[in-house]
Amino acid sequence: MSFYIGCHLSSAKGYEAMGQTTVELGASTFAFFTRNPRGGRAKAIDLADAARLRSLMQAHAFGPIVAHAPYTMNACAAKEHLREFAQEMMADDLVRMEQMPHQLYNFHPGSHVGQGAERGIELIAAQLNHVLRPEQTTTVLLETMAGKGTEIGRSFEELRAIIDRVELQDHLGVCLDTCHVWDAGYDIVSDLDGVLMEFDRIIGLDRLRAIHLNDSLNPCGAHKDRHARIGEGEIGLEALVRVIRHPACRHLPFILETPNDAAGYAKEIALIKSYAIL
Ligand code: FE
Ligand code: FE
Ligand code: ZN
Repeated sequence: MSFYIGCHLSSAKGYEAMGQTTVELGASTFAFFTRNPRGGRAKAIDLADAARLRSLMQAHAFGPIVAHAPYTMNACAAKEHLREFAQEMMADDLVRMEQMPHQLYNFHPGSHVGQGAERGIELIAAQLNHVLRPEQTTTVLLETMAGKGTEIGRSFEELRAIIDRVELQDHLGVCLDTCHVWDAGYDIVSDLDGVLMEFDRIIGLDRLRAIHLNDSLNPCGAHKDRHARIGEGEIGLEALVRVIRHPACRHLPFILETPNDAAGYAKEIALIKSYAIL
């Protein structure tokens, strides 16, 4: 069985450079922002660079890579021009993603900013119905959120409600962020099996396509979203090892979004790999 671990990388030097960094880190997948995390224009697609990444990924047997939409993209903003901006960004990102076919594109569902969860869910589904294409090969992932402020995606039920309203459901999956579900109140430390059974009951484990592997600075249910290094937070190394070894998760790409420099990531990747069932 293959085990896929990697971390969030800067895309400043292009696609191939991220692939090379991944290999140097001893990793086999990575994440990156599709554009400036604050949103806005993305660089023109460098087709040759994308092709070089594709062959590098093949040569090194990478798992699926997990692109990340900008944090500021709010599909359920109250102002219409912000929603249009979000829609344009996602549509453009999905065109770009097809340069690396069959990979994953993760986004934060959005914040309803006082309009209510019901309305937020409607708007997020509307954006997905607007941008998803039958012919696309990219799977779009809804990220489980910590529930800070008015974030949608704080419960499995909210993610299910979005999926239910989307026409092209085959192109949808979920990325489970260990810090976020913990902060949202799912006790993955004392009852990982129970949490994953609930995920299966409400969303279906077939939708689970990626894991953001983070420790949390805060206790379960804090709704804070402050990531900690692996083993340095309230979740702890043992519980995170149970996640990477769990039959429902162990085949998925694991992305570290921990506060680390390159050396710190290399150490964390080696640590996680030493506990993986290979
Ligand atoms: Fe995220
Ligand atoms: Fe995350
Ligand atoms: Zn987070």
